[in-house]
Amino acid sequence: MSLYLVIFVVLSYLAWIIWIYCRHRRSSAVLLKHVMNTSSDRDTNVRALVVTAHPDDECMFFAPTILRLAETNATVHLLCLSEGNYYNQGAQRRRELLDSCAVLGIPASRVTIINHKNLPDDPTAEWSVSLISSAVVKCMSAHSINMVLTFDGRGVSGHANHVAINKAVRHLASTGEVPKDCVLLSLVTVGLFRKYVSFLELPLSWLLPSRLCCIVGSQGYKRAKAAMMCHRSQLLWFRYLYVAFSRYMFINTFQGIPQGPKNLKIY
Ligand SMILES: [Zn+2]
Repeated sequence: MSLYLVIFVVLSYLAWIIWIYCRHRRSSAVLLKHVMNTSSDRDTNVRALVVTAHPDDECMFFAPTILRLAETNATVHLLCLSEGNYYNQGAQRRRELLDSCAVLGIPASRVTIINHKNLPDDPTAEWSVSLISSAVVKCMSAHSINMVLTFDGRGVSGHANHVAINKAVRHLASTGEVPKDCVLLSLVTVGLFRKYVSFLELPLSWLLPSRLCCIVGSQGYKRAKAAMMCHRSQLLWFRYLYVAFSRYMFINTFQGIPQGPKNLKIY
């Protein structure tokens, strides 16, 4: 009897995940309008900028978002603030990043890679907030960006370079250097257990409040995995485990970064 109960609970849970996924697919365009604070079709032309620190961040952490935005006809740009030169592989990692972006649907013309001596790929280096801010603003104005997506204050993996980008975007939000109608979003960092239960984590992400939620199914997962495989220099054994079990290969949730002087208090 108890075996039947276990089977019933497991099947019900899987059915719930499928229901959430199907509902998400149907309502994505409406949700995007809600995120952009507009009800008009004319102004829902989303021009998104994903800001990352290293080649491979885009597929390890942001793949569901990039794929879903592209599916909703948003124009997605990527700003990567370093070449990932920690092991002197910068030139190779630059090529890998462009290959990965092509798999995710971002052409090379929409990828900006910064190679600045003061923005090294190094967890012990303190990246300058003003340097990051100016790179983000320059990219935003060049492409008339109206949505910026980046890490939150915990940086998903806790990497100092990820956290520095969040500080810089919050700084921009507080100083009014970005247009008021631009939506700033930070990728929610989840705890270790939630991080490594793959798509089984979906109901919790769905239930918890977020500004934007992006979910991909098996096809999206295959593309995210294919993008990760482009980063040949990074394919150590634990990367395969990450690809197999990380919830970020299927699900991204974002919180809004409020604009205005009240944000100043964090500095
Ligand atoms: Zn990174």
